[in-house]
Amino acid sequence: MQSDGNQSARAGTPEPSGRQALAALRGSYPEFVPGEVWLVGAGPGDPGLLTLDALAGLLQADVVVHDALVDARVLALARSGAQMQFAGKRGGKPSIAQEDISAQLIALAHGGLRVLRLKGGDPFVFGRGGEEILALAAAGVAFRVVPGVTAGLGGLASACIPATMRGVNQAIILATGHGPDEEGTMDWSALARTRQPIVLYMGLRNLENIASALMRGGLPGSTPAAVIASATLAKQQVLESKLECIASEARAANFAAPAIVVIGDIVHIRRQLLDASAQNAAAPAGGAALPGGSSACGS
Ligand code: SAH
Repeated sequence: MQSDGNQSARAGTPEPSGRQALAALRGSYPEFVPGEVWLVGAGPGDPGLLTLDALAGLLQADVVVHDALVDARVLALARSGAQMQFAGKRGGKPSIAQEDISAQLIALAHGGLRVLRLKGGDPFVFGRGGEEILALAAAGVAFRVVPGVTAGLGGLASACIPATMRGVNQAIILATGHGPDEEGTMDWSALARTRQPIVLYMGLRNLENIASALMRGGLPGSTPAAVIASATLAKQQVLESKLECIASEARAANFAAPAIVVIGDIVHIRRQLLDASAQNAAAPAGGAALPGGSSACGS
């Protein structure tokens, strides 16, 4: 997602008025001390979901080390003159080794720079932020962690699927579909037995296997399921289906990363919202369209 030139120019300048507004909003403006690393979550994509502390970091950082999932409009908020460094996966090429990223953060901090490590979503949710912070601590580098809106929760809300709904679920499971040792490490049957909704990160590639494992574990094939791709962005796509068909339908519809998969009865709430809003001539709350369709696979 590209920002337009005007927006970038406006957002890229460290406006004193922006600082004042932040300070007024927050009470005290967090100061980025040279030699410090801030590990910051950028949220799932939409710049509107940045936290004020993330913005404060962007306005002060000397160098921003960012992942591929961070939206260009968020990067455009960095102080003009801040050095931008990419440290992520690009186009299927092998990603930079985690140790190299940590070593780079340490070297930049030891060089006396204000280092902003910017990650998609929340830095501690399937983002390897834990490893980076351990390496920083071991090297004696001062750090701050700024939470972000994680895709698994922000993405659900953006698709009008409540993460919890009284009478429907009492828990929500955030799981990765891409374990460190690939298949076999996760006890999918145990998750199936909880009968609580499961949100999968990085789950598209293994979705066929995961869905089969959940069904073997006793989850009915008719369990509602949805894929939400590019959540919170203008190109957000939602596919509603059921567990037994979600993998084939996502493939047929060319759904691509980044995408989360949600399996459980909470998916039904979106359908209820769609139906209710279809019956009303008025647009749904906030004027947001409810994108995506449903399917009748297997019925
Ligand atoms: N730390 C991140 C997750 C990083 S793992 C967070 O808290 O959100 C990367 C995975 O996150 C992607 O494969 C996808 O499953 C999910 N993801 C990130 N951004 C997304 C988006 N805008 N829409 C849907 N899924 C997203």
